[in-house]
Amino acid sequence: MARAKAPAPALAAVGETPLTVLSGCGPRVAEKLAARGLACLQDLWLQLPRQYEDRTRLTPIRALQPGVAAQVEGRVEAVERGFRYRPMLRVAIGDDSGATLVLRFFHFRAAQVAQFEPGARLRCYGTPRPGQHGLEIVHPSYRLLDAADGGALGDQLDPVYPAIEGIGPASLRRLIGLALDRLPSDDALELLPRALRDSLQLPSLREALLTVHRPAQGSDIAALLAGLHPAQRRLALEELLAHHLSLRRQRIAQQAHAAPVLERMALAEKLRGALPFALTGAQQRVFEQIRVDLGKPHPMLRLVQGDVGSGKTVVAALAAMLAVDTGKQAALMAPTELLAEQHLNNLRGWLEPLGVRVAWLAGKVTGRARAHVLAEVASGEAQVVVGTHALMQEGVAFGDLALAIVDEQHRFGVHQRLALRDKGAGGIVGEAAIVPHQLVMTATPIPRTLAMAAYADLDVSAIDELPPGRTPVQTVALSAERRPELVERIRAACAEGRQAYWVCTIIDESDEVVAQAAQGTFEALSAQLPRLRVGLVHGRMKATDKQATMRAFKDGAIDLLVATTVIEVGVDVPNASLMIVENAERLGLAQLHQLRGRVGRGSAVSSCVLLYRSPLSIMARQRLETMRETNDGFVIAEKDLELRGPGELLGTRQTGLAGFRVADLARDADLLPQVQELGERLLRESPEIAERIVARWVGGAARYASA
Ligand code: ADP
Ligand code: MG
Repeated sequence: MARAKAPAPALAAVGETPLTVLSGCGPRVAEKLAARGLACLQDLWLQLPRQYEDRTRLTPIRALQPGVAAQVEGRVEAVERGFRYRPMLRVAIGDDSGATLVLRFFHFRAAQVAQFEPGARLRCYGTPRPGQHGLEIVHPSYRLLDAADGGALGDQLDPVYPAIEGIGPASLRRLIGLALDRLPSDDALELLPRALRDSLQLPSLREALLTVHRPAQGSDIAALLAGLHPAQRRLALEELLAHHLSLRRQRIAQQAHAAPVLERMALAEKLRGALPFALTGAQQRVFEQIRVDLGKPHPMLRLVQGDVGSGKTVVAALAAMLAVDTGKQAALMAPTELLAEQHLNNLRGWLEPLGVRVAWLAGKVTGRARAHVLAEVASGEAQVVVGTHALMQEGVAFGDLALAIVDEQHRFGVHQRLALRDKGAGGIVGEAAIVPHQLVMTATPIPRTLAMAAYADLDVSAIDELPPGRTPVQTVALSAERRPELVERIRAACAEGRQAYWVCTIIDESDEVVAQAAQGTFEALSAQLPRLRVGLVHGRMKATDKQATMRAFKDGAIDLLVATTVIEVGVDVPNASLMIVENAERLGLAQLHQLRGRVGRGSAVSSCVLLYRSPLSIMARQRLETMRETNDGFVIAEKDLELRGPGELLGTRQTGLAGFRVADLARDADLLPQVQELGERLLRESPEIAERIVARWVGGAARYASA
């Protein structure tokens, strides 16, 4: 019997055609493209210009602005070659506007020099910057106009693509052009429902791609340059959708796993009754959400956001009790040893009186001690295990891990989070593998829209209330010249029985350089404040010394702690009421907020002094102002988003968000509600289309560990 003929390749598959079909794309070029993840036609279609050069018009030299790229035309007025430090060629050109522009070259050939005869007409494009003699452009792209060349202006914006190692810009532009020539018809390419495009007045994918790559004459150039053109919005929408779908898909896969049902509340109730304080309303609410999650036979995946000092640890401890009560284990992982140790101390203080065994595992636990802990962890004797990255290492096997808690999760990558989850005992229910529940906590709140985009694979809770009795930290920014006054201030605070932090930061630092700076500051302050007990912690110290110093500070045996940003995360010393941060202008908002969160933890009025060096950049000034104006982590997060953009805010390691091609979460945030709604609908009604959208934008090589 004749076999049915294989179906003709679907048009959609055109996108998957390897790039070697393009003329000029041999194996060597293909390899270079592949190194950047560009393997098929579709990848080139989506390789979008990072900006445009506008050669459709000329700017009079007099009207040039520093930092704004422009095209100018002029006649060569003077040429100068210099050799003083290195070869250099300067060409001054002037135009009818009566101004002069200097073109400066560091690499040039003799033939090139000969071209620049005085009087020659030159058209060039580049970004002018202030130079020795007015504005200059270093290495402009240029062309000589002769009598035959009337110098017609371009009629469309020239796309500028992200550079690819080993492929010149012109070749790249040509290859992308050839790929675009093979774009299938609208219908074959389109995946978004027509109604949606119409309602948002967005073009088809084909049209959008052509507009973005080859903006036609008359396109809204300003909109394109700003990334606000409907064509770009259309692409951003689809890209955001693809990311959303990919996260949702992982979540669905995750939820298909089984997890132990944890519903015994006796221990948690006991702990709650034994605490020296009552939970805040927000803590109660979030714990209740966690309790409901843990009572289900599917893994919890919950992110708890809570400002510094909002009391996340105790909520985690309560959750851990549900695992212990069921005869299983909970693990709590923190990004630094200092923080992990603090958790250990807190948990031991709370849990050991209840008869719960808390074990400790960090890199520095070695030899016999380590073997002993590993045995306890493996047997299940250790009911709660606290530690650092060491928890995830090979050779660490839990007897029966039911709840994996990750603190300050923004410090970890997604992979690390999943690695802890994979420490579960395994086993199968029906067809589903059994995995632990996951609770992740962060004190770096992110704006709601972003949270929805970044954590579509997680449920998000917020502890949005501080325990009672905290007074807001008063923040001032002071120029570094006023440093001497601070010594007095520290003396005064400590005389009242308070404690203080002095935080040393340097930019571009190696641990070692910062450690040296901290050492220097420590010595200077010790000399200036002979009656105070001054301590020092930095990243180069032995962990035991670090811990001893922190403990002494916590116990009140040290008045002033000189520290590097190792103290940034989580450290809790309620009696500390003064913090001085050096070089505050160099730190980001999130980090400043984290640091400041070390004070204002008790009932005393606390202050934070941000020392800066002038002159301040506009951004730095805004950051310091924001810090002075508010203590609210969510407000600061919004501001941070505005100043820095989402990629940096979220960190590239934990989400694929920084890797967007067109979308910009700050700019396109208004699309997110649509993205979510549409995403849910597609998953419900047309999962195969959802699949194709993910494949198109996120690719088969998912950026995440498979769920
Ligand atoms: P974070 O959310 O920054 O991790 P912590 O869990 O370290 O905060 O809690 C900060 C401090 O507040 C700790 O000393 C903790 O014991 C205390 N705390 C937590 N919850 C409450 C509460 N409801 N009332 C009073 N103090 C609390
Ligand atoms: Mg904490």
